[in-house]
Amino acid sequence: MSAPVVIRGGTVAEAGWTAPADVFLAGGKVTALAEPGTPAPRGVTEIDARGMLVLPGGVDPHCHVGFTSGDFTSLDDYAQCTTAAVFGGTTTIVDFAIPRPGQSPADAAHAQRARAAGGLCDSALHACVVEWDETVPEQLRSLVADGMPTVKMFTTYRGETMADEDTILRTMATLRDLGGMVVIHCEANHIIEDTQTRCSHDGRIGAEHMAATRPELAETASVAEVLAIAESLRAPVYFVHQSTPEAVELVAAARRRGVAAYSESVAHHLVLDDSLYAGATPERFVCCPPLRPRPVVDGLARHLATGEITTIGSDHCCYDLAQKESRRSDVRVMPNGLPGVETRLPVVFSEFVTGGGLPVTRFVELTAANPARANGLYPRKGTLMPGADADVAIWDPSAQWTITSEALHMATDYTPYEGMAVTGRPRTVLVGGRVVVHDGVLADPEPRGRHLAAGPVTSPGGRTRAARASR
Ligand SMILES: [Zn+2]
Repeated sequence: MSAPVVIRGGTVAEAGWTAPADVFLAGGKVTALAEPGTPAPRGVTEIDARGMLVLPGGVDPHCHVGFTSGDFTSLDDYAQCTTAAVFGGTTTIVDFAIPRPGQSPADAAHAQRARAAGGLCDSALHACVVEWDETVPEQLRSLVADGMPTVKMFTTYRGETMADEDTILRTMATLRDLGGMVVIHCEANHIIEDTQTRCSHDGRIGAEHMAATRPELAETASVAEVLAIAESLRAPVYFVHQSTPEAVELVAAARRRGVAAYSESVAHHLVLDDSLYAGATPERFVCCPPLRPRPVVDGLARHLATGEITTIGSDHCCYDLAQKESRRSDVRVMPNGLPGVETRLPVVFSEFVTGGGLPVTRFVELTAANPARANGLYPRKGTLMPGADADVAIWDPSAQWTITSEALHMATDYTPYEGMAVTGRPRTVLVGGRVVVHDGVLADPEPRGRHLAAGPVTSPGGRTRAARASR
């Protein structure tokens, strides 16, 4: 059990409000939010947070740990990924159990859960369905009962993870009745394969041509199809890494018709644009969907303020430069994905709170509260209300620093944000009431991260039920 702590003199920021308050922690939980200066019992450790924001630790809803796709496996394990996470102010990650070809969803989930040890912070898992057979309903029932109510699906990557429309429909209907939800990567595979074939014939299939090989309309078409399935079934659905304003607007329009549909965006699609593919190192920016043109990026970011984007994830995928460079001449066989679990909160805070006037309450909602809600982890995570886990990011909103891969902790040798000047970073990060990071130094390397069993998913902003602990 962690010793009692009071965080004094800071401004607490929740999804709905901010106020000066002292935060009392004990036994791994938040025990009280109190008037500034409230006396503490003897023996309570005081942490000075004057001039700081006191935020619930970030919840990253989209984080791949040691992910195998094609010929490549991303390079981190739970110890490495969660170390990077806590340095960046994130105290809960949600990873994926993606089956290898022929592997069942349940076997993939059990294998990935067995690897979920040694973390510095808590984690949860999305399951994944690729193919339908008569055993899938029972597998889904036991996965939901086992704390995995969210199930990843893909409309792309034929032969690896692509699911057909029948499988998507049946999985969505089954999860609807179990209190779960499909979380889906939407890009119309037939359009992408055809576009890639034509690009290849023209000699335009290297990393510098990444954006053209996966057009925006492939995403729009696939989102529209999946929304129609969800609307027909009255099932909830969560779209991962939406990269265009059109895709977000389709989801928002469905939500206005009563569909429980949600948009996730990821930091790199909100900040970086496709001009990077014209630079000297285009392979460093190869991700799916690709980076988009600047007007598209800015149009997407405008939906942070409108409320039409539900969550911001990282889509962290930790390949190194040797992996990224090895197949740079053909995007069809390159490892897709960017490292980002550590930079998600600082980059988004700097660009949109410091630099864009986004209210800090909305920042907390997008990066902690809503990810917790959409993953059945609220109000245990994503809030500092009494009873929540004592995961806290004490945030210095005026710290100015420059992102360099050398100073980061992810298991790779580059960052797509190299050289970017940012304002704001976590000064002290607590997990379960213990200081884990302070002033850029790892204060407690003891791996106390637990695997969380998520409860039923709840509507972001809607009624909530608590998650269960699995140990
Ligand atoms: Zn992903």
